[in-house]
Amino acid sequence: MTRQLQALFAVAILALLVVGGWTVWAAPQRPSDQQLRNAAADDANWLMYGRTYDEQRFSPLQQINEDTVGGLGLVWSRELPTTRGVEATPVVVDGVIYTTGPWSIVYAFDAKTGDRVWTYDPESDRTRARLICCDVVNRGVAFYEDRVYVGTTDGRLIAIDAATGVPVWETLTIDLDKPLAITGAPRIANGLVVIGNAGAEYGVRGYVSAYDAETGGLVWRTHTVPGNPAEGLANDAMQRAAETWNGEWWLAGGGGTVWDAIVFDPELNLVYVGTGNADPWYRDLRGRGGDNLYASSILALHADTGEYAWHFQLVPGDHWDYDATQPLMLADLEIDGRPRRVIMQASKNAFFYVLDAATGEFLSGTPYAQMTWATGIDPETGRPIEAPAAYEGMEPVIVTPDPGGAHNWYPMAFHPTTGLVYLPVKDGMFFIHPPDPEWQPGKRAFNAGIEPGYDGPLLEQLLLQPPPQGKLVAWNPVAGRADWTVDFPVAESGGVLATAGGLVFQGRADGIFAAYRATDGTVLWDFDAGTGIMAPPVSYLVDGVQHITLMVGWGGAPGLINPPGMGPVKPGYGRVLTFALDGNASMEPRPFGHTEPPVPALPLEASAATIRDGRELYEGLCFGCHGFATIAGSLPDLRYSSADVHAQFEQIVLGGLREQRGMPRFDDLIDAEQVRAIQQYVLSRANATSGTP
Ligand code: CA
Repeated sequence: MTRQLQALFAVAILALLVVGGWTVWAAPQRPSDQQLRNAAADDANWLMYGRTYDEQRFSPLQQINEDTVGGLGLVWSRELPTTRGVEATPVVVDGVIYTTGPWSIVYAFDAKTGDRVWTYDPESDRTRARLICCDVVNRGVAFYEDRVYVGTTDGRLIAIDAATGVPVWETLTIDLDKPLAITGAPRIANGLVVIGNAGAEYGVRGYVSAYDAETGGLVWRTHTVPGNPAEGLANDAMQRAAETWNGEWWLAGGGGTVWDAIVFDPELNLVYVGTGNADPWYRDLRGRGGDNLYASSILALHADTGEYAWHFQLVPGDHWDYDATQPLMLADLEIDGRPRRVIMQASKNAFFYVLDAATGEFLSGTPYAQMTWATGIDPETGRPIEAPAAYEGMEPVIVTPDPGGAHNWYPMAFHPTTGLVYLPVKDGMFFIHPPDPEWQPGKRAFNAGIEPGYDGPLLEQLLLQPPPQGKLVAWNPVAGRADWTVDFPVAESGGVLATAGGLVFQGRADGIFAAYRATDGTVLWDFDAGTGIMAPPVSYLVDGVQHITLMVGWGGAPGLINPPGMGPVKPGYGRVLTFALDGNASMEPRPFGHTEPPVPALPLEASAATIRDGRELYEGLCFGCHGFATIAGSLPDLRYSSADVHAQFEQIVLGGLREQRGMPRFDDLIDAEQVRAIQQYVLSRANATSGTP
């Protein structure tokens, strides 16, 4: 049937419906609650963040399989106007890709051609970049009944008409006086849009909110840690939590931010969230002792009201920034001969947890990577057995995993046939935690003596450690062991997709995107994207043909901080790539970065003492974005700053000259003399790495 005939036929049917007195004819709303619940059977679409409510990221498609994957090729690619971190999971509905880039910009692409359908830029406040610990990233949208929902770095939740890209409503989810930001993807639960936020590196109190998808009205908000008891504790759950805190914790916020994992189980009608570190990072700084509920926990809430259902705390009295925010995955597993509905997390702290989804009962917690902070776990309660050397009061300690975690936000995938969870792991990165004796509420936890500012005796021990090993681990969650592992030349690798074609797809920080055999990890196909990859791929059908789409772009905390030992990472311009069998498009990644050593633009004039002061200021204020020892990752490398940039250095740092490009102003924290010290430190680094004296 030709398109014209199809159109005539549709008009005739519509006329019959109208003439025949049928009540209403309307285009079906997509995706409805029912369609979201049936997402597993909907092989043509990728309807939500984790594909299904279980967030298993398993595609039932198998055109691309062990035998055919060798013919997989690029169909189209589109460059994004950014070199910052790209972390989004695209949602794909009826041949249109809805995805996001840095600064919470939303894109809709035709999945077949890559043509832009629309772009929606929420114009997030660039001046807030300094309040976001780990890049101005966004992990994607939720799609519900013809609208796309996005959270912004400046704390708004916005509903957008999916057909036109025009906003329908927006609501502010944060107090703009607090250093809160949204980087995570919203989730849909029975007509509610559930969203949390980030900020526990800066002194905030964590919470998660649910908004009416239709109107944007707030339906419930649940805090994850108690506030000042003098102002009243909302309920018994918060009363019990308050008993696990000491001192005046509320002055520093408490932490426990819900910055990534949110999972809805329609069967149990529960929303699960992972909560971040207690605030500030260090135990003694927030009043010695106590478990600090419900920070570093998995928290189950009743979906309709946000009321507490159960909690499981992974790290009582956290001291190491062990957020429990990593992706949560629901599955039905047979454990000890009994079917169990479980919720799983490969946590930052290097334990893989399996809990009963209905009750939170601890079923298992097994190390999946090296750890020195704990010597084991209580098999009855799941409480970690802390290593004595991991906590020395206000003395510095060295531990692994580091604050980046053995596994972070990178989504994992589950294959129901192999029964394996495929998991990106960074194994054995050590870190020095030196609590800052001068810390006061209001000062960033992040700034409480993070490792680069530390020159003490543990440094030698740190330098003796081998670099961390990046790997893809096929984890058997029932047996509590790795079935196979693939080692990488880079420490960081991205989110994972598993398919019924017997494949596991994953990209990594050196730009390689590969397909592995799900049963044994054999590499069956790979593609060099030219730019580092963090985001997870998705798979869907266009005109009955299986496609795979992946966002590429290196950034986030590891991309910006760019610590040593990461391997040959590739910062560069973000891209959207789409693959299918027999695809034969080519692409030319735009060059980014430098291949020659820096040539200092100005002579170095300052004294060693000034340079040392500059280094200290740099490490407190600048390194989180401009990189370890000024060697940039995904932002411009300051060592290569031109004479013009140096001439404007003070205006840039204090006057906000580049504020709209994402470089915040710091005139509330430092003065012109301190800026000159930072500038001299930057010049000293350009000198030190140029080979000139
Ligand atoms: Ca944290």
